[in-house]
Amino acid sequence: MTTTPARALDEDLTDAQRDLRRRAREFVEDVLIPLEQDAERLGGRLPDEQIAAIRAEALARRLGGGRHAVEHGGQGWTMLEWFLVNEQFGRVTNGLHWHVPNTYNVLGAGSPEQIERYLRPALRGEAGGDAYAVTEAESGSDPSGIASTARPSEGGWVIDGEKWFVTSGDVAAVLIVMANVVDGADRLPTLFLVEPSTPGVEYVEYPQFTHSFPHGHPTIRFTGVEVGAEAVIGGIGNGEALQRAWFTEERLGIAVHSLGAMWRLLDETLAWATTRVQGGRRIIDYQGISFPLADSATDAAVGRLLTMSVAEMVDAGADPKLTHAKSAMAKLFVSEAAGRCADRAVQAFGGRGYMRSNVAERFNRELRVDRIWEGTSEVLRVVIARALERRGVEATIH
Ligand SMILES: Cc1cc2nc3c(=O)[nH]c(=O)nc-3n(C[C@H](O)[C@H](O)[C@H](O)COP(=O)(O)OP(=O)(O)OC[C@H]3O[C@@H](n4cnc5c(N)ncnc54)[C@H](O)[C@@H]3O)c2cc1C
Repeated sequence: MTTTPARALDEDLTDAQRDLRRRAREFVEDVLIPLEQDAERLGGRLPDEQIAAIRAEALARRLGGGRHAVEHGGQGWTMLEWFLVNEQFGRVTNGLHWHVPNTYNVLGAGSPEQIERYLRPALRGEAGGDAYAVTEAESGSDPSGIASTARPSEGGWVIDGEKWFVTSGDVAAVLIVMANVVDGADRLPTLFLVEPSTPGVEYVEYPQFTHSFPHGHPTIRFTGVEVGAEAVIGGIGNGEALQRAWFTEERLGIAVHSLGAMWRLLDETLAWATTRVQGGRRIIDYQGISFPLADSATDAAVGRLLTMSVAEMVDAGADPKLTHAKSAMAKLFVSEAAGRCADRAVQAFGGRGYMRSNVAERFNRELRVDRIWEGTSEVLRVVIARALERRGVEATIH
């Protein structure tokens, strides 16, 4: 199949796409960026009324539920449109865009009842949304090693296990839980929708993390949790297939947000470097400052082309196995490039770059996790190396 070249140029966008990007940009600049300092001072947790105001603004500007189908209450964006919006969201620190009503794509695969009960309210900004629980104490990079089980019971399932690092698990209305359905000697990875108030669901720890983030990442234990047959999402044994589609979108999302972060870091560092005077010269006139800026700009431009081309491959209907590998490449390159870019920015700001009130300081902490979650950089290299072996060099790099 052929794919269109990446649309790096503004004139290739339709008027509607340009309008969408403008709405996202204005939302970020008018609503989210002014809240960053408050969010940092409060450890990431804004008061409920501020969160409600962000959600209302996002809905009014038609920025919620981006990739979800219009008939489910989403916007039905293409991946390119989703790219344009999320690049703007990435320009904000403290993960403030997490307050925009949305859910993981997995819920879109739900039954009409599941969509009615969980997806629609989340996209209306009414409920706490979802959280995705795969990782366990002994199973991180290799999710096929999970020990959580779902055993058949009268009319449903009994779930046992413990999940770690459940992002938004503390606020979610529903937990998407990966467990192995035990069928004789077979273990069938399956996703279940579990409400946190179900008896047997226990929050055992709320660890502290490096970033100041809107939500926590609690450890959640499931002991004899009884759910009905209708709690299965996507069919028994289909957990890994749904997870692959989830990984493609989540990994691309991390790349796109990191591109936004690089854009903001470059903007702010350039403004500083062209006005800060030391030794009688603007610091940008020292190559020790200007060359790292040039490297960051180059990283951002290369990462943008790669990531946008993957988004367009998805829109063009490319083989999901190929876009899975390509999205791994985009996340690997851009998350590592964004880390370099934040580190250089801290250096250019000098002592100010070590203050939490400074955007470079915050991004320098916050971007670190992008090399860990949704597949570590090492695991992504494994995925890419496998694609090279199975699909060949040409398919992998073109
Ligand atoms: C803030 C935060 C939020 C998270 N949110 C969620 C969430 O919402 N839901 C969820 O399910 N999980 C979540 N996670 C978990 C995250 O996905 C895992 O931490 C990640 O997949 C790595 O697993 P691990 O921590 O067990 O590390 P390990 O798998 O133990 O890896 C340790 C080190 O070994 C390396 N390694 C492992 N295997 C290989 C290999 N085959 N080749 C080379 N190197 C290898 C890794 O790259 C890493 O450097 C979150 C994590 C964090 C920090």
